[in-house]
Formats: sequence, structure tokens, C-alpha cells
Amino acid sequence: MNIKELDKKYVMGTYGRFPVTIVSGKGSLLYDDEGKEYIDMGSGIAVNIFGAADDEWAKAVTAQLMQIQHTSNLYYTEPCAKLAQMICERSGMKKVFFCNSGAEANEGAIKAARRWSREKYGDGRYTIITLKNSFHGRTITTLAACGQDKLHTDFMPFTEGFVYADPTEIGSVKKLADEHNCCAIMLEVVQGEGGVNTLSPEFIDEIKAVAKEKDLLILVDEVQTGNGRTGQLYGFMNVGIQPDIFTTAKGLGGGLPIGAVVFSEKTENALVPGTHGSTFGGNPVCAAGACNVMERIDEELLSGVRERSEYIINELKGAKGVKSVTGMGLMLGIDPEKPVADIVAACREKGVLVLTAKTKVRLLPPLNIPMEQLKKAVAVIKEVLA
Ligand SMILES: *Cc1c(COP(=O)(O)O)cnc(C)c1O
Repeated sequence: MNIKELDKKYVMGTYGRFPVTIVSGKGSLLYDDEGKEYIDMGSGIAVNIFGAADDEWAKAVTAQLMQIQHTSNLYYTEPCAKLAQMICERSGMKKVFFCNSGAEANEGAIKAARRWSREKYGDGRYTIITLKNSFHGRTITTLAACGQDKLHTDFMPFTEGFVYADPTEIGSVKKLADEHNCCAIMLEVVQGEGGVNTLSPEFIDEIKAVAKEKDLLILVDEVQTGNGRTGQLYGFMNVGIQPDIFTTAKGLGGGLPIGAVVFSEKTENALVPGTHGSTFGGNPVCAAGACNVMERIDEELLSGVRERSEYIINELKGAKGVKSVTGMGLMLGIDPEKPVADIVAACREKGVLVLTAKTKVRLLPPLNIPMEQLKKAVAVIKEVLA
């Protein structure tokens, strides 16, 4: 049996995989089992920030691997402590809880928001406002947090305590905050899975005003937008929000599984010993990879992200077959006139791997993709879109 047949036979069928078996990569180039080369415009869904098998990152990871791969959270380790320091110092936050994925990070943020509110206001004040079209993960609670009805079937009962505001309607946050006993509002600065949608400045102002008036915590889900993706270290830095709690994962480890819940001065005591934990959380190998990632997301890299973003937008905005280009930095959505599945397949045939978000083509290339490769990929995408 070949790999595709083996996978189909034995791996649970939860993914609609593309008909490609990736065997290796270097930077923004990937290779399949037939030796075909692809330009990677997806980074494993915003994960491989420095592309495949980056030398410096791999060196940091393997050095830690050969030292000690895991200790449990009963002991102190250097990569975990240093990573937490870097995240806090660069975000203006105070404390970090480490875990393994985006969904787990959001679970932690939700637990912390509820506990914070219970300590301050007592029982019953637990509802969290999230946004229509949002995506926060695949666990029962984070699915409940997603503002997408189609995700709220099959697995009843879901965790209660989530209500959904319409980001296209000013006043909807205020209305929900008046009607429910809320503790927090949770949002993505750019909705990734929901279709690469940005929020209007007016809507962001409303969130800030209502949060202030009702003492709601602002939870920002930076799982996809974090780690330089939007052209700033974190997406909220583009829109003038300072979160009370934010979460991140995807790009943080540069390809290793690590997530983080990050707490401000206001929420730094929301979790205390015994209230939360994670066996692998802050694992030294993943944290060493993440330290390397954080050290290298500097102003030079970020301005490179913004330049590449401008290049893509200039090429594709108003191009033939393109209805609109949305997003920020290297997290861009293209609304195509043709069916998105056809575009993805045609790009793949021509050696360019792109993603989708709802009916859009989604681009999430490595943050350091060489301009030459980016130009080639954009030319292919443009030709296919037309
Ligand atoms: C991917 C994603 C998640 C879920 O992350 P996992 O690591 O798959 O659990 C949560 N929120 C956002 C915004 C995401 O893009």
C-alpha cells in the first residue's frame, strides 16, 4: 500500500486532505514523494514562520533535545522561563501559562475569565460575548465559543455561557452586554477560519467602550494572528487594543506544538495553584523552538512582512477574477470569482500551495519567504484567478 492508501485506511477520516504527500522542505519550498517542488503559501496553517527545516531554529531545538526533552511542570526549566519573559516584556503583559495548542490556550483563557469574575463578583457572571464567524478551536467549550451555527450540531450539549455579537452591527455588543450577565468579550483581530475578516475601527471602539463600562475582560485570540503574522508581533498592536488576556499558538513554536495564555496586570492572579495545568505545557524542546522564534521576530522581520504584504495586495487588488483582498500582513484572503476549490487545485498543479477560508483563497506564507519565490507564487495565483 502506498502512503495515501495507508493513511485512508488507518487514520481517522476527519480531514479532507489534498492529494499530496509532503516528504521534505527547505525554507518556503516543499517537496512531495515524486520530487515535485512547491512554493509554500500556507506555512502549515500559519505555523512554520521561518519555513521548513530552518537551520537556526533546528539547531536551537536539537540542542535542547539532546539536553533534556521533558521534565514535567514539577520542575523549573530555562527555555520555559525565558520564553515567558520575552512574551511578557514585548506585549506589556505580566504572566504566561503554557499549553500545547490553540484550543487548549482558549480553554485556559475562558477558565481564567470565569474564575476572575467569580472571585470579584460572585456566581453567575460567566457569559462570554464572542463574534459571529469566529473560530476558537475544536474542543466542546471552544466550539461553543465559535460564532458559527454549523459547528453547534452533532455534539450536544455544548458548554453554556456564550453569546454572539455581529461585528458588522454597531450596538450588538452593547445589547448582549445589557441582556446577559457577562464577564468577558473574546475576539480575533482578523478572523482567520471565518474568512480573513478584519474588524472596523468603530466596532473595536464599541468593544472597548462596553468592556470599560461593564468591567468585561477583553480576550484576544491571537492563535493565528500572533507571532508576527500581521506585521506586528501581535495582531492587537495594529488596532489599539490592550487585552486583559490573550492566547497564541500556531506560529509560536515555529512548527512545534506550543500554546500560551498571556495575562495582564488585571488578570495575573486569575489562576492559582491547582486551578489549571498541562503535562506537556512549556515543554523544553517546544519552548526552545519558540525562544528562537521570538528572538527573531524583530523590527526587520516585521517590516519585511509588511513589505511582502503590500506587494501581494498591489498585485492582486483589482486583478482579473478578484472581487476583494482582505486581511493584514501575511494573513490575506482573496475573494475569487471562480470556485475556490478549482483555484487551489490549479495552483497546486502549477507548484504553489495555497489555503482556503470559507469561499476565499487564504495566503499565510512563511514570514521570511524570499521575494523571488513570493513573486513567482503570486504570478501563478494571479494567472489562475483570472
Ligand atoms: C487554529 C485556531 C485555533 C485552534 O488552534 P488549534 O491549535 O488547532 O487547537 C483557535 N483560534 C484561532 C483563531 C485559530 O486560527
